[in-house]
This record gives sequence, structure tokens and C-alpha cells, in this order.
Amino acid sequence: MDVKQVRRDFPILQELVHGKPLVYLDNGATTQKPLTVIETEARYYEEYNSNVHRGVHHLSQEATNAYEKAREIVAGFINAAHSHEVIFTKGTTDGINLVANTMCRRFLKEGDSVIISAMEHHSNIVPWQMACEESGATLKVIPINEKGELKMDAFSALLDDTVKMIAVTYVSNTMGTINPVEEIIAQAHARKIPVLLDAAQAIQHMSIDVQALQVDFLVFSGHKIYGPTGIGVLYGTTEWLNKLPPYQGGGDMIKTVTFAKTTYNELPYKFEAGTPHIAGAIGLGAAIRYLQQVGLDKIQQWEEQLQAYALEQLRQIDGIRFIGDAARRSGAISFLIHDIHPFDLGELLDQQGIAVRTGHHCCEPLMDEFKIPGTVRASLTFYNTKEDIDKLVAGINRAVSMLR
Ligand code: PMP
Repeated sequence: MDVKQVRRDFPILQELVHGKPLVYLDNGATTQKPLTVIETEARYYEEYNSNVHRGVHHLSQEATNAYEKAREIVAGFINAAHSHEVIFTKGTTDGINLVANTMCRRFLKEGDSVIISAMEHHSNIVPWQMACEESGATLKVIPINEKGELKMDAFSALLDDTVKMIAVTYVSNTMGTINPVEEIIAQAHARKIPVLLDAAQAIQHMSIDVQALQVDFLVFSGHKIYGPTGIGVLYGTTEWLNKLPPYQGGGDMIKTVTFAKTTYNELPYKFEAGTPHIAGAIGLGAAIRYLQQVGLDKIQQWEEQLQAYALEQLRQIDGIRFIGDAARRSGAISFLIHDIHPFDLGELLDQQGIAVRTGHHCCEPLMDEFKIPGTVRASLTFYNTKEDIDKLVAGINRAVSMLR
């Protein structure tokens, strides 16, 4: 992969920050957008802005076609058996809330339990906590080892007849751990328990085939896969999406409405109440097309090289401690240096044009596990270079010498 060439596709990577060339290492929070995504979204507003599924007029049909085409692109990308298994949402958080809320209303009751893991993002903790509170079910947590890997023996031990749902992250947003999701799904399905995968940090780094995985639900955000904010995807099998009740009520999700009774639309519209983020969905389609053109295999290969290089270089920094050091990892690298507060380090890096994230990364229980208030997180993606890593390491060394 020609990284220099790829970088030209992302206008923002040419920007200066505090007068320095931007080194963007906060891809776990959100990724930058290639020009094709920006232009595709602008073209919708400039040339065929209209509401979908409503009018017979030309623009509405054009918008509907583009919106539904985007759904097909997503379905093809994750190898869904049907495009109606792709629900457009606001993002990962919205998708998890949809499943937790509807699952709670239809399937959870007192005495049941839901399994999550110790490394979940708040958005894969709180909706399940709320569902448990509402239904009287119990939340169970898969523990992790000191390397930030799931303790699979403990997972197996949690499985019993009370478990009605398992929701885990595919890749940790804080530590980059890639979880053994195939194994989790196999054990869950042996007991007929459905599994939701939070793929927010996986979808942009590795090819995902929902049919090969046999996963029941998979969620991700458009903005972390080079697409717009405010759009995301919930994939669900036809079987499960049909079993769940509608989430929100409103236009588009209905078949007929009378004051006496409403009947609901078929999939996927049953779960898409109101005017959707049309431009966002079309932009997400463009992002996926772009990714397919660059080639996810090439992306993965480059990212693996880059990550090995980053770990090797960072390891040489005096006093560095990695938070999470899993054998299989992708994207995020979290660390602390001596007793320096992550925020101070992040601020000094920012002054050098280097963007990293500092804090708890919406994983407070994980921070408690490691007994730390937060970390510095560098999260890499395919438009990053070895030069970016060198600048990060030099930037850290400079910051440390100022702080100590
Ligand atoms: N899960 C994981 C693993 C994440 O990394 C994030 C975003 N940091 C989310 C969920 C939430 O995504 P969003 O804010 O786009 O809904």
C-alpha cells in the first residue's frame, strides 16, 4: 500500500496544528474522512436532497435509491445474507440501546442474566445495566487477565440457564485486544444464547463476515470507518430482528395507523422511525467503497507492521508501562509513563501537533481494574506512517524531559 498516496485522499492530514504538521493518532475516537466521502455527502445536498421513501417525484426517488444502495453496500461489506438485516442507526451506542431496550421488553425477566466483559466501553455497559434494572435481570462480567485478555475459563463458568444475552466488544477501544469472538459465539450458541458484538473498533481494521461468524447482532459507527458522524449500523439476523419489538415509534416504521391500533412495517424499516440520516448513510456507503478500493487486506497488513513498529519504539521509552499487552491486538495502544498524569502528557503532545487521547476512554470499570485514573492512548490506522510513530516517540521524550 502506498501510504503517501493514501494520505493525499484525506484533506485534513495536510493541516497544521499549532504551526506543526498534524500527527493524528486519535483514530479510535474518530477517523478522518477521505475527499470522496465529503464530496459524496455534499453532492447529495447539492444535487438530489430530498426525503426518502416518501415522494413519487424524481429527487425523492433518487435519494431513496442512493440510501438503499448504501444499505446494500454495507450488507455486502459484512456479508449479510439480506440487506434488510442492515438497520441504519445513529452509531454504535444507538445500536446497542436498540437491542438492549427491545430485548429487555420482550425477553428479559427477573432471574435472567446478561453477560458483558470487563473491557467494555460505557455504551456496552450502561444500556445493559438499564435493561437489567428494568427487568430484574443480573449483569455478569467476564474478567480479564493482567495483559488485558478475556479469561475464557471464567467466561465458560458464567454460562448457565439464566443467561439470555451476551454482549462483548470485538476489539478493545482502550487496549486494542482482539477478543476470541468465534469461541464466545460457539459456546453461546451451544446454549442457544444470542451474541451481540460491538465492532466499533474492529470494522475498520479487519474483514468481518457476519455469516461466517454466525453472530446474531453486530454494531458499528460510521465515523470510525472514515464515514460521517451520526450514522451507524446495526446488523441483526432476520430471525432475531423479527423477534424483537420495534424500538421507537413514528413515521416510516409503520404499515397502518389508526387510533385503535398500529401495525408495523417490515424489516429494516420497522427499526428506522422518522427521517433517517440520509446523507450520512450515503456517505458511509462511499467510505466503504473507498476502503474496498484501497483493499482491507492491504490495510490490515500495513496496520500490523505499523503497530509492531510502534510497540517496539515505544517500549524503549524509559518508564513506560503498557495498559494491556495482548497477544492479538489492533488499533489502540494505551500507556503511562512514570507517574506523569496522562492529561499533562497529552497537552504537551498537542502543542507539538500530535493528537492522542487521554483519560478513561469511556471505560471507567477497566481503569478501576488496573487501578489507574486513565491512560494516554495512541490509536493507529492505515494512513499513519512510521514517521508519525517517530514523532510520537520524540514528542513523548521531549514532554517527559519537561515534566520531570
Ligand atoms: N464501543 C466502542 C468499542 C467504542 O470504541 C466506541 C467509541 N469510542 C463506542 C462503542 C461508542 O461509539 P459511538 O460514540 O460512535 O456511538
